[in-house]
Amino acid sequence: MKRLITVETLEDIPLEYRKSPVGLLLEYHNLNRALDKFTKAQLLIGMCMDNRKRLRLPDNFAYIIRTGGANLQHSEFKVSFAIAIGGIKSIALIGHNQCGMVNLFQRQESFVRGLVENAGWKREAAEEHFKRFAPIFEIGNEIDFVLSEAKRFRVRFPKIQVAPLLYMVEDNQLYFIQEN
Ligand SMILES: [Zn+2]
Repeated sequence: MKRLITVETLEDIPLEYRKSPVGLLLEYHNLNRALDKFTKAQLLIGMCMDNRKRLRLPDNFAYIIRTGGANLQHSEFKVSFAIAIGGIKSIALIGHNQCGMVNLFQRQESFVRGLVENAGWKREAAEEHFKRFAPIFEIGNEIDFVLSEAKRFRVRFPKIQVAPLLYMVEDNQLYFIQEN
C-alpha cells in the first residue's frame, strides 16, 4: 500500500509529529521505546473496537475511545472532554485494514442471523436494527475514512494536532497515512 508510511526508525516519523505525543505513540508501539512515566494524559486515541488490536503504551499516556471503524462521529462530546478537561493537544485516529465496518451491507444476512441465534431477537427486529444503523456505521474505505475524519477534526478543533494512522493487523504495526 503506497499510501502508507512505514515507521521502523525515529527518522521515519514525519517531522511535524516527531517531538509530539503522536511521535511518542509510534516510538512506544513500533520502536519499542522504554515506557516513560506520565502523570497526565498527552494524547487522545480513536481506534476501532476490533479485538485483533492492542497498543503498547505507558500508563496515563492516552485517553482511548474505541468504536466500530474508529468512527468518532457520534463521540464528539468525549473528544471535547479529553481536550477541555483532559488537556490533550494531539489526537491519533487509527483505522485498520480488514475492518468489519467496511462493506457492512454485504453482511446483512449473517448479522441478522447472528442476532436471532446469539441474542434471541426476532428476525424482523434484527432486520430493522440493521437497516437503521448500518448506514450510520458503514465507513466505506478505511484509509479514506480516517483521512476525512482527520480533516474534519482539524476544522472542528483548530489548535489540536490530528494524525491519520493505520494499524495493520498482519504485523501489528502502526503506519502514518500519506496525505495529499
Ligand atoms: Zn474495525
